[in-house]
Amino acid sequence: MEGSAMKSRLSNRIRLMLVFVLFLALPGVLHADIVYLEKGGKVEGKIIKKDSDGVVKIKTIYGVVEIQEDNIERIEKCESVFDLYERKLKETPKDDSEARFRLAEWCREKKLKTEAKKHLKEVIALSPDHEKARTELGYEKTDKGWQKKASVKKKKTASTTAKKEKSKSRKLARKKKKKKKSSKPAKPVVKTIRAGCNVYLLWCTKTKEAAVIDAGGGASEVFQLIEQNKLKLTKIIITHGHGDHVAALSSISGRAKNAEVLAHEKAPVRGATRKVKEGDTIKVGTLTLKVLHTPGHTPGSMCLYIKSGKILFSGDTLFKNGLGRTRSASDRQMIIKMIKEKLFVLPDDVVVYPGHNESTTIGAEKKHAR
Ligand SMILES: [Zn+2]
Repeated sequence: MEGSAMKSRLSNRIRLMLVFVLFLALPGVLHADIVYLEKGGKVEGKIIKKDSDGVVKIKTIYGVVEIQEDNIERIEKCESVFDLYERKLKETPKDDSEARFRLAEWCREKKLKTEAKKHLKEVIALSPDHEKARTELGYEKTDKGWQKKASVKKKKTASTTAKKEKSKSRKLARKKKKKKKSSKPAKPVVKTIRAGCNVYLLWCTKTKEAAVIDAGGGASEVFQLIEQNKLKLTKIIITHGHGDHVAALSSISGRAKNAEVLAHEKAPVRGATRKVKEGDTIKVGTLTLKVLHTPGHTPGSMCLYIKSGKILFSGDTLFKNGLGRTRSASDRQMIIKMIKEKLFVLPDDVVVYPGHNESTTIGAEKKHAR
């Protein structure tokens, strides 16, 4: 009885192994979640269920695979809205105004405002009398044909001078407010997007210049934030060359054509346009990020320190309650040395934004290391 149970368990295991090999041989067949296994390898598919007893069910193109949670290193949610959009865009015929309109509606639902507007304009280029598209773009039907609502309104109000005066004084007040704002010192703002790794959007409040730190996913969220806050993405900084930190690099840099892509000179980052080394500085508006080369997790790992804002981006070198994985005893010695000599010398109240999991402070990690 026991023997046959063991046999069937073994054959199950072999079947699973086979599936893994197949997936390794067919990378990127299915754009969905990627489940990285503790012992290496990965399974691509859609996570459909996580049982209370710790079994994760993944729908793959070969059927449903079950994996015990303990065997999973981490899970990467892969298809972002932007990936989906790219796929939909390819599938939508260019000359079909209705299909183009449906695409625009989908973009609007997903809050891809720029894309939605672009496709609405395509719709009215194809069929100028498309009422819904016209309305969404802010047109009104007048006896002279379709006209932008704003211009219709302007004509209506132009005659009343009182209103004009009002708007003048409002403008003045706005200008005053702006002046007040710009005399404040620049502050760094950091937003965290949890994707394949922690993707950080950092910006300078003074110049509205922004940088993405690590690009493991979340491209659509990044660009939503950029649009919402009227930012200009000028830098994409990669803390090290691991796949989970660069998975969305091409889709982010593809949408921010003028942004520099920076990585350490020892980090193999495809698409990097500028290599940096220990002590170099990177400007994001009025903010200065200092490069701290911290090998150990990888030879090209680096941390970025903003002294004025008391912020450290630590990549996979320092985490909350621990340090990054290493492959050998000497690498482990190296990462510990780097943390002690370059990170633990920073002030205790420096906020640490790591490559995965929650943020922490230098003081808390110093205590933990003791
Ligand atoms: Zn890593």
